[in-house]
Amino acid sequence: MSDLPTFDDVAAAAQRLAGHAHRTPVLRSATANARHQAEFFFKCENLQRMGAFKFRGAFNALSKFTPAQRERGVIAFSSGNHAQAIALAARLLGMPAVILMPLDAPQAKIDATRGYGAEVIGFDRYKEDREALTRRVADERGMTLVPPFDHADVIAGQGTAAKELIEEVGALDLLFVPLGGGGLLSGSALSARALAPHCKVYGVEPEAGNDAQQSFRKGEIVHIPVPTTLADGAQTQHVGQLTFGVIRRNVDDVLTASDEQLVQAMRFFAERMKMVVEPTGCLGLAGALHGGLDITGKRVGVIISGGNVDLARYAQLVA
Ligand SMILES: *Cc1c(COP(=O)(O)O)cnc(C)c1O
Repeated sequence: MSDLPTFDDVAAAAQRLAGHAHRTPVLRSATANARHQAEFFFKCENLQRMGAFKFRGAFNALSKFTPAQRERGVIAFSSGNHAQAIALAARLLGMPAVILMPLDAPQAKIDATRGYGAEVIGFDRYKEDREALTRRVADERGMTLVPPFDHADVIAGQGTAAKELIEEVGALDLLFVPLGGGGLLSGSALSARALAPHCKVYGVEPEAGNDAQQSFRKGEIVHIPVPTTLADGAQTQHVGQLTFGVIRRNVDDVLTASDEQLVQAMRFFAERMKMVVEPTGCLGLAGALHGGLDITGKRVGVIISGGNVDLARYAQLVA
């Protein structure tokens, strides 16, 4: 496929993001290193604007809108981090944003999205066809749809986190990346291939929804029912056409992590590194520790993808 994004697109995205996205810190942990006899580098996208890497892809995509597109604005559907990312990026770029959210989405998420200035339209996810509704609103208002992962500009934006990580710490032996629809993983793989060609890149998805692992092994996109997992940012039913095109060419394997392993990683981040990480954000570390790979003596990159989690729920999980 000639329309797949490349590392040049990631580099261009990095320029657009400069001064707008945080250059998030890379943290180390002597405890993790000693326990696992490896050298860990944690890229902390839980400390990114709006609390997750998704700001990168959203801002990059919206920055490329034409003046006519900017005037009409952006539309997206999401009940998660993509909603807040699009809302914030739209506000910063001075364009209207409409986010379609299921009526039963957590009120805190609806409030956060409205807080960034977006108009939230609720829909009944059991009765209404979300895609048809999105298309109708998009047509009526002339808005441009930006999907959460299967979009070249979104992928390129997400790839800037791994680019920063490798530029800051040098070549890695292994890189572990949380995986839902594959935007973060495909962008990260483009950066790793270009900047650290010997680095092995692994996607890590919830055990309960291993569609990407099945797709990777089979060589074609596999669809699954909505998986039940704590990792609500990775409850996707299938990867995208573009993300899969990049993943199958540039990723070494797809691993899975159980909910119990995610909770263990959440506790580790809280107790040892003083960080709030959402369950989905723990997939990378869980995959590094439990994915069956030998990390002894290796330089291990881990992307912590986000930190947005309801506090009551968080307290329950880490207690
Ligand atoms: C969206 C999201 C993911 C998954 O990203 P994809 O690009 O869909 O693979 C992982 N972690 C967090 C915190 C997310 O919000």
